Amino acid sequence: LTPTVHQMIDVGPVPRFARSSRAIEFPIVRDMDVLMYERQDGLGLEIGSYAHRSILHDPEDIPSIEQAALSPTEFPFTKDDFDPQMEDALELMPEIVGDERVGVKYAINGLIALTPDGMPLLGETPEVKGLWSAAAVWVKEGPAVGRCVAEWMVHGEPSIDVAQSDISRFHAHQKTRQHTKRRAFEAFPKTYGIVHPAEQYLSDRPLRKSPMHEWHVAHGAELFEVAGWERPQWFNSNAGLVERYGVQTRPNEWDARWWSPIINAEHLAMREHAGIFDLSAFALFDIAGPGALAAVQRVALRQMDVPVGRVVYTPVLSQVGGFKSDLTIMRLGEQLFRVVTGGAHGMSDLKWFRDHLPADAVLVDQTTAFTTIGLWGPRARDIAQSVTRADLSNEAFPFGTCRTVEIGSQLVLASRISYVGDLGWELYVPMEQGLRLWEELWTAGEPHGLTACGIGVYGTTGRLEKGYRAYGAELDGDYTIVEAGMAPAKVKAQDFVGREAVLRQMAEPAVATLCTLTVDDHTSSSGERRYMLGRQPIVLGDGTPITDTKGRRSYATSAGASPSTGKHVLLAYLPPDHAVEGNHLFVEYFTERYPVTVAVAGSRPLFDPDNVRIRA
Ligand SMILES: Cc1cc2nc3c(=O)[nH]c(=O)nc-3n(C[C@H](O)[C@H](O)[C@H](O)COP(=O)(O)OP(=O)(O)OC[C@H]3O[C@@H](n4cnc5c(N)ncnc54)[C@H](O)[C@@H]3O)c2cc1C
Repeated sequence: LTPTVHQMIDVGPVPRFARSSRAIEFPIVRDMDVLMYERQDGLGLEIGSYAHRSILHDPEDIPSIEQAALSPTEFPFTKDDFDPQMEDALELMPEIVGDERVGVKYAINGLIALTPDGMPLLGETPEVKGLWSAAAVWVKEGPAVGRCVAEWMVHGEPSIDVAQSDISRFHAHQKTRQHTKRRAFEAFPKTYGIVHPAEQYLSDRPLRKSPMHEWHVAHGAELFEVAGWERPQWFNSNAGLVERYGVQTRPNEWDARWWSPIINAEHLAMREHAGIFDLSAFALFDIAGPGALAAVQRVALRQMDVPVGRVVYTPVLSQVGGFKSDLTIMRLGEQLFRVVTGGAHGMSDLKWFRDHLPADAVLVDQTTAFTTIGLWGPRARDIAQSVTRADLSNEAFPFGTCRTVEIGSQLVLASRISYVGDLGWELYVPMEQGLRLWEELWTAGEPHGLTACGIGVYGTTGRLEKGYRAYGAELDGDYTIVEAGMAPAKVKAQDFVGREAVLRQMAEPAVATLCTLTVDDHTSSSGERRYMLGRQPIVLGDGTPITDTKGRRSYATSAGASPSTGKHVLLAYLPPDHAVEGNHLFVEYFTERYPVTVAVAGSRPLFDPDNVRIRA
């Protein structure tokens, strides 16, 4: 983390506060237009700003207690930085700030601690066993953080999911001083800013380039970043598909920001022909040795004692039965398993597996050793078959299996699974060979209508119309596999982390069910069509929130287009009374309510409900 200045002055005594019986009697004012706040503190008024330039320090700049004139975390006030803010405060509160009797009592460059992603650092450090962190925490979160970290240390799990703040989440580059400072420099003025949910960091990029990076740039890729990797969100070279498929644009600037109708067009091209995806950001790690089976068996909910060549999609649970992750594991040998998980969460998963590793197994991080290329769509087999002599028929290469095949001069590990719900494979090759494989598939795909697709399809449209859940959106520590519609028919006999909790959960009636909702009418009161982006409340017609018996409110855990059905889709946990197909509810978006219908209660996909395509 990096020490960052937040300037604040305290003016007073304020005559109108003289009658106050408490330290804070007046509401705190957040002046969002100028990134400032004003708040009463006894007889004084504190004026704080996030509008000044980013002023970063190094940890070494912080003096010792003996050396510090004030507190070590209070640096001398740099008045010039604050002068423009004083003008704004004067304009907002002339009565107080312009009063000649009200003087500056106190002015500081106080330090706050910023991380590369703005979230705290909680939990056990991945580097040192038994060393715990509760840092980069604001006062307002202090009590809850104290409780969570204490529970985590004593019981092994906090009662509130704090995975986004887990100190083990960082990839190597995110721990460097330069990256931390660049991201903090960029993020500081946004502390009070209105930040779009898909907003991208612009600093310190590109950092991690996939082997196909230059190809993507040449094809007009709109690059989004995850875990340092540059990933195409969509390809501007596919702009012509928008008209061909008649995709609608989003009229509202907020709804259309960081989005393109090209995503929906790429999706439809994949469903009609085939799509190729760069999935280099996956985190991969191998678990090997005599204890490898025991290691994965202990962490995975699903049965891992499967034949070599099987791919298992499995939830990973905490002792109390909340989601720690969901990922796939390939059995590559009697004593060799490869775990494939998302880049954003990969390092936390790595720690979790490492923490549960028996002495006779090793874990090897393979993330930068292999790249992954996705090839999916009804023509995927035709394309792949045209470049290999291996038998790719459904009989020879069924869904849920993996094997090494020769494609040209390359040995490619092909895994027949799909997060977009279509026929095809994830293809793994050494990083340095990725571009060659991509280009061979691209050439082979041309007569079949192959389209390069971005993560907009992979992460949103493709998965949502298939009802696939995402860790961090639908799946977290606050919901269970039963509520998520992911409970196994039978719990495996072998012990695994969370087993007792799962048996308990499966014996009790679910108090919420993850549902797929479709938006019935997008029209706002101004006549503009609006498209929810996720995290909006699901409410009754009069605006009453929907709350389950555990006190959890219903909201859209994810939102996005289902281009195949022409609907805008929301996923949301609903209590049993509301989790009824055909039920009409509302989603609240920018203070207005839009009608929605429960299209699916449970995990049945909205598109291709019988999964015919994926098993073709
Ligand atoms: C001006 C200002 C206003 C803020 N307003 C709010 C607000 O309204 N709401 C909110 O939630 N948060 C606010 N914050 C943020 C909040 O104050 C911090 O996030 C929080 O105090 C961090 O807590 P901490 O215990 O991690 O660190 P600190 O509170 O910074 O505590 C670190 C302590 O370590 C001591 N120390 C440092 N070096 C040494 C050393 N070598 N030896 C011994 N002791 C040492 C320091 O003196 C200090 O007491 C504000 C911050 C600032 C600067």
